[in-house]
Amino acid sequence: MSSIIYPVTNLAAVEQLNIVSGKGVYVYDDAGNQYLEGLSGLWCSALGYGNEELIAAINSQLKTLSYSHLFGGRTHPVVMELADKLAAMLPVPDARIFFSNSGSEANDSHIKMLRYYSNAIGKPQKKKIIALDRGYHGVTVASASLTGLPVMHSHFDLPVEALGILRADCPHYFRGKVGDESEDEFVSRLLQSLEKLIFEEGAETIAAFIAEPLMGAGGVIVPPEGYLPKVQALLKEHDIFLWADEVICGFGRTGNDFGSTTMGIKPDLMSLAKQLSSAYVPISAAVVPGEMYEAMAQQSADVGMFGHGYTYTGHPVACAAALKALEIYERDDLFARAAKMGAHMQSRLQEYAGHELVGEVRGKGLIGAIELVANKETGQAFSDGQVGAFAQRACQDAGLLLRVVSGSSVAFCPPLIIEENQIDEMVEKFGTALAATLEYAKKENLIQ
Ligand code: PLP
Repeated sequence: MSSIIYPVTNLAAVEQLNIVSGKGVYVYDDAGNQYLEGLSGLWCSALGYGNEELIAAINSQLKTLSYSHLFGGRTHPVVMELADKLAAMLPVPDARIFFSNSGSEANDSHIKMLRYYSNAIGKPQKKKIIALDRGYHGVTVASASLTGLPVMHSHFDLPVEALGILRADCPHYFRGKVGDESEDEFVSRLLQSLEKLIFEEGAETIAAFIAEPLMGAGGVIVPPEGYLPKVQALLKEHDIFLWADEVICGFGRTGNDFGSTTMGIKPDLMSLAKQLSSAYVPISAAVVPGEMYEAMAQQSADVGMFGHGYTYTGHPVACAAALKALEIYERDDLFARAAKMGAHMQSRLQEYAGHELVGEVRGKGLIGAIELVANKETGQAFSDGQVGAFAQRACQDAGLLLRVVSGSSVAFCPPLIIEENQIDEMVEKFGTALAATLEYAKKENLIQ
């Protein structure tokens, strides 16, 4: 065992798969086995592996300017070009962009900017943030506090109380409906309880509501039609920002430019990462509206500084990778292609809807999930992650890398460049794994 402390891993059971190379949608282990990368790494490798254009852009930037920072007014042309390009694509009015390295840092930066802003506008009590149960927003102390998954909190003494994170219901109809409640009734109930929360806490104390347009790590949950637009209308009434965490959904994943477009909302704040550079070099962005920026700028002039920033904010090599990725997405019309390939993937995944182990098949564009259940009739969940872990391992044995999230939901999120026959290969390999998983669940008496 090496001296690495592995992230998001059972530390007692590590180093099971040593990936040494990748090409297109495939990766290879140290024994030469090929795997279809069905989760784009961690929902990020949109252009797959070994993209020569991206590699050339990164190399060229390394030769021209391998590093420069942005503190104290210094800048460089690549970060300015990227900011302009993003601002032109984003739905946020007069978007201003703060760059960092990861989705967690983008979300941390947002929390700090919201605090800076609430002080700037003379509303220092307006700092609380509403986040969804089962939402995933990262792992730094503040972003993990936004995350609504108990496993990311326990034994870390999170969430930090002083951050004022409020929790709202997860908009997952399949798991969250009460009795024979219809989807519309479910949405109305969630909206009522959100309104009650805002009323009880006082809108004047709440700065923002954060949500992933489609929730990734919490189980690939697609909120019911109308849920997010209704949330947006409610927030508007109460002068609360809608903050879209687009770290997974951004840049074509759901078949449109952003998940917000797919879900019919116009966010005030946005967090971007992952596909922004197709994961060739780490980069993320926290986007705020011009109006918020102006107030922050005024305050920083008064105190002498906006005291936030990273050594690698706007790293030129990361910006060059992002610019090239955006150019390829646009030139190759990859968002529209994701919609087309996504429709094929979703219809192929639906073929498993009748399977004895499958409770729900869901998704949008090139992201989806198949939730495995202990009882098909009632939808009862498995009591622990044993079956999900077996399914993930069985996929790997079949030459397919997928990730089981939220216990027993098998997540699919292949590179945007995936071909139709590769989607078929992915779905069929999953079928082999599903058959092995059913056999295992029966043998272990885990079916109710
Ligand atoms: N937000 C969302 C929606 C994510 O899915 C993730 C990571 O998966 C993050 C934030 C955190 O990003 P990072 O792991 O780059 O810190």
